[in-house]
Amino acid sequence: MTDLNWETVWVGMGSNLNQPIKQLLSAKSCLEQSEEIRALRLSSFYQSKPLGPQDQPDFVNAVCTFETQLNPLDLLQFLQSIEHKQGRQRLRHWGERTLDLDILLYGNRVENLPQLTIPHIEMLNRAFVVYPMLELESTIILPTGETLKSKTLPTNDLVRLDSINE
Ligand code: ATP
Ligand code: CA
Ligand code: CA
Repeated sequence: MTDLNWETVWVGMGSNLNQPIKQLLSAKSCLEQSEEIRALRLSSFYQSKPLGPQDQPDFVNAVCTFETQLNPLDLLQFLQSIEHKQGRQRLRHWGERTLDLDILLYGNRVENLPQLTIPHIEMLNRAFVVYPMLELESTIILPTGETLKSKTLPTNDLVRLDSINE
């Protein structure tokens, strides 16, 4: 196994059901409890308009970054188990959910598997991903060599919520 190295990953978090901030804090705790995850940092929370159907509540989004020994597919499975534990149901595409956890970056890896694309294919187009990432780290370089801060992105309806994440 090549799991012995600790890789730095970025995970996008979102919720718009059942007390979104609590959902994100609970996901953070689950991640921190894993022995294969260390040095987790969480961004502020941001409120954003839903991407898909507009007849659903606004989202609360955040990103976290941590080091992990889990390989990308095992990390995906772990994230999905947390979504499941927190009551995620697949209702409709880009619809309401208690918790969504997406792998944004995994070290410098590029993955194009049927169930996993890294970097996350839409990450650079989403203000609710890019701004919280830049809040935690001002220079982030993608496997393509692209710098996150070089991309100018309208903030749209993104609103930074007061720091309640400790
Ligand atoms: P989007 O991916 O546009 O943010 P979504 O998060 O609503 O949409 P989901 O329904 O949560 O999409 O996930 C659909 C599938 O996407 C998952 O079952 C997973 O296999 C796949 N997937 C591909 N790449 C990733 C990734 N980088 N992180 C998480 N899931 C991914
Ligand atoms: Ca998503
Ligand atoms: Ca997802």
